[in-house]
Amino acid sequence: MFELTNRIALVTGGANGIGKGIVQTLAKAGAKVMICDIDEKAGKETAEEVGGEYYKLDVTDQRNAEQVVQDILEKHKRIDILAANTGIYPEVLIEDMTEEDWDKVQRINLKGIFNIIKPVLKAMKKQNYGRVILTSSITGDITGYPGGALYGATKAGILGFMRSASLEYAKYGVTINSVQPGMVATEGLKKQLETLSDKGAEVVPMKRLGEPKDIGAAVCFFASEEASYITGQSLVIDGGQVLPETPDV
Ligand code: NAD
Repeated sequence: MFELTNRIALVTGGANGIGKGIVQTLAKAGAKVMICDIDEKAGKETAEEVGGEYYKLDVTDQRNAEQVVQDILEKHKRIDILAANTGIYPEVLIEDMTEEDWDKVQRINLKGIFNIIKPVLKAMKKQNYGRVILTSSITGDITGYPGGALYGATKAGILGFMRSASLEYAKYGVTINSVQPGMVATEGLKKQLETLSDKGAEVVPMKRLGEPKDIGAAVCFFASEEASYITGQSLVIDGGQVLPETPDV
């Protein structure tokens, strides 16, 4: 296990699903975790479970994000780790897609990253230390599905943002990387599988869906001292799903 004792971590979308797995794994490694989420009830429960703190945050609201960062900095003086994980993944075919659909998913998945990363990077630059991990998806640059164009566009956007941002902040002791989960068993995914009649775990070579803690482990690695020379990189965590198998010849 990586050692993160006394590190101050902020996790967006940390109340449920993958975010909760990230929170639990960071806390297990010793970090003090700030759970920032729009879901107050689950956010407070998760905070209590790991001895962390809950902050109400709607990532689409820039002022809200700035205030939350300011409140954390006033109390803890620093933010060492940011896991910007919030995202939604409604399925919508292009010909059914409205401008509202487009704007909503972009606002949460992509602008939501900008809203929280901007004030956090300002603090990390001053500290001359920081670890940022963004949650993208295998749908960002490897896979796709009908109804996933909008979601895929945001997740590809995260990868592009991450690469340039990592270069902008490398000289300030800040690393910026991303994780690309495959199918992870969360409430969000369960809803999607119901409507997709997907084969779920069957298409994964490991024959199981990912667990939130599988993603948490990768986030912990990027947050650790051991990963201090890695920046601008993305790690796929998918039980082998995207690996093309060599055909029998
Ligand atoms: P989830 O729906 O289970 O949890 C999402 C969390 O984000 C919830 O706690 C929710 O309250 C919070 N949230 C939603 N809108 C918010 C907002 N405006 N402001 C603040 N918080 C908000 O989702 P999940 O499956 O855990 O997915 C988490 C991330 O992982 C997303 O970015 C998703 O795209 C990505 N991802 C998930 C999978 C998967 O299979 N589950 C695969 C690849 C990538």
